[in-house]
Amino acid sequence: MDTDFFLAWFAGMAELIRLRRDHLTELDAAIGDADHGTNLDRGFAEVRQALAEWPPTSPEQVLLSASNTLIRRVGGASGPLYGTAFRQMGKALDAPVTPAGFATAFEAGVRAVARLGKAVPGDKTMLDALAPASRALTQAVQEGVEVREAFERAARAAEEGALATIPLLARKGRASYLGERSIGHEDPGAASSALIMAALASVES
Ligand code: ADP
Ligand code: MG
Repeated sequence: MDTDFFLAWFAGMAELIRLRRDHLTELDAAIGDADHGTNLDRGFAEVRQALAEWPPTSPEQVLLSASNTLIRRVGGASGPLYGTAFRQMGKALDAPVTPAGFATAFEAGVRAVARLGKAVPGDKTMLDALAPASRALTQAVQEGVEVREAFERAARAAEEGALATIPLLARKGRASYLGERSIGHEDPGAASSALIMAALASVES
């Protein structure tokens, strides 16, 4: 996986988030402050712009550039959380990037989200999509399946994890202020994490 692969991943994320912007914002309207879709759409559009203006020359540079933009430009909890995930993933990547190296670096990114957000799976956050995705990816790579299939399994695990947040009670972030009223709604951050993984599975390589 080279620099172009990572650029295509971020281009795919930006596209999917644009398409699903209003849906993400509706999810956040139900249990948050109705800004998740607009926040991320603006943030990921700026990620693409920065990557075009200062072309990166390594996968690590792609991830660090995206991280900087998201941390600086996305208001709300999700900007720093995604920004930190991509930063730690970038720092953990070794060149050349192999499927196993990708899976290990991705796991480092997911752990960083848990540390920063002080969240565990089951708290009804983006971690409920990211953690199962990371597990599925690591397992698929260990089984030696084709990278495409490994990414598809990770994307499916993220989507299932996001839908599984519906019956959960939110224990972190803005939605936790609602207590029992957070039950019955999909977590917006888990939904956007599923899009990030769907974008990974659809990179042409
Ligand atoms: P804000 O809640 O500040 O408006 P966003 O709407 O952009 O931020 O993002 C909300 C999402 O961020 C939530 O749906 C949840 O997935 C995620 N989130 C919030 N707090 C935490 C946390 N402490 N740990 C992990 N994820 C979190
Ligand atoms: Mg919000």
